[in-house]
Amino acid sequence: MIIDGKKLSIEFIKEVKEEVETLKKQGKSIGLSVILIGEYPPSLIYVKNKEKKAKEAGIISEVIKYPNEVSENEVLNKIEELNQNSKVSGILVQLPLPGHIKKEKIINAINPLKDVDGFHPINVGNLASGTNAITPCTPLGCLYLIKSVENNLEGKHAVILGRSNLNGKPMAQLLLKENCTVTITHSKTKDLKSECKKADILVAAVGVKELVKGDWIKKGAIVIDVGINKSNGKIIGDVEFDSSKVMAKAITPVPGGVGPMTIACLLKNTLECFKKTSL
Ligand code: NAP
Repeated sequence: MIIDGKKLSIEFIKEVKEEVETLKKQGKSIGLSVILIGEYPPSLIYVKNKEKKAKEAGIISEVIKYPNEVSENEVLNKIEELNQNSKVSGILVQLPLPGHIKKEKIINAINPLKDVDGFHPINVGNLASGTNAITPCTPLGCLYLIKSVENNLEGKHAVILGRSNLNGKPMAQLLLKENCTVTITHSKTKDLKSECKKADILVAAVGVKELVKGDWIKKGAIVIDVGINKSNGKIIGDVEFDSSKVMAKAITPVPGGVGPMTIACLLKNTLECFKKTSL
């Protein structure tokens, strides 16, 4: 089974849109502000897609653009202004940032209740303690993709490749909450293949093209490929798709798997932030 992330994302966006429309009828409006610094080509594409999908869902989206040389203070002042603005439900600062701007300082400045990316330490802590957190969009999207195949994950052995704050760590927290037994692997893991072979659920988020081969996959596993890697003008994942799909029970393609669900979850999080700040 190929997991169709595009199709699932359309259903999610439709649900968000319906809720947004109901709120609009009550005179409420949901706004997402995105801060984009510089001209890093992947960021330009991501932000454009996010803006397009937000509009599709009826969310008022604004992109605040700064040149690469903008000072840290100017960005911090803008974040404070957005924190105070009741029309802004969600704030997203597109990463990566230029070297002179400290990522932690920027993330910490965002009101945790408007932190649609779920990167603020309060949301990270809430996720770790299993309480009401805004969850990073990509791992949240992965969880929905996994649950579209199998709803009850209790007792499954989940293996995650990668331990980034963006993907691997929050993915582990989410799967722990689902009562999986979780193994996190990384670049210093010995014998990655044998770890992967134990996985009922395998999530690859490393950024190394086709690192995971078909013979690393346990027969019948659910395989989620987060990787986005350029190869000969094409985008490919961290998992070798053709050899893996014959082993897996279900697998996400790249593109068309995790990517669209990341954006759908961003819209879901924006609505969640609206509810936390305005209802
Ligand atoms: P990251 O911050 O660079 O982290 C990569 C992780 O993979 C690190 O923990 C690293 O280990 C581990 N790793 C690297 N090479 C490895 C190897 N050969 N064997 C085992 N582990 C290895 O990356 P990220 O931000 O999590 O992103 C990962 C991938 O997901 C990238 O391709 C990115 O473009 C993609 N991505 C996709 C979406 C989407 O919506 N589809 C969203 C975000 C990111 P160490 O910690 O030991 O260095």
